[in-house]
Amino acid sequence: MTTTNPVKPTISIDQIVRVYSGRPGCACGCRGNYREDLASFKRSLAKYSGATAVQTDEGDLDLDGNKFVYWRNDQGTRTYTIYYRYNT
Ligand SMILES: [Zn+2]
Repeated sequence: MTTTNPVKPTISIDQIVRVYSGRPGCACGCRGNYREDLASFKRSLAKYSGATAVQTDEGDLDLDGNKFVYWRNDQGTRTYTIYYRYNT
C-alpha cells in the first residue's frame, strides 16, 4: 500500500544501494537513469533532505530485498527513488 509519509524514513549514505532519477512515468530506465556510485548517492540524499513529501510502499521490497522511497520535485517534472538496505 502506498503511503505518503509526513515523516521521512531516516536513510544514511551507507544504506543506499541504488538511486533513480528520471521524468515521471515508466521507471524501467527509458525515462531516466539508475546509478550506483557514491557521488549520485550523495546528490540524491541531498535532494531527499529537501523533499517536502515522499512516498513509500510500506512492506514492499525491490527484487534485491531493499526498501525504497520516492518523491517528485516541486515542479512535478522529475521523479527520484532511493533504494536502501534497512537491516544492516
Ligand atoms: Zn520504460
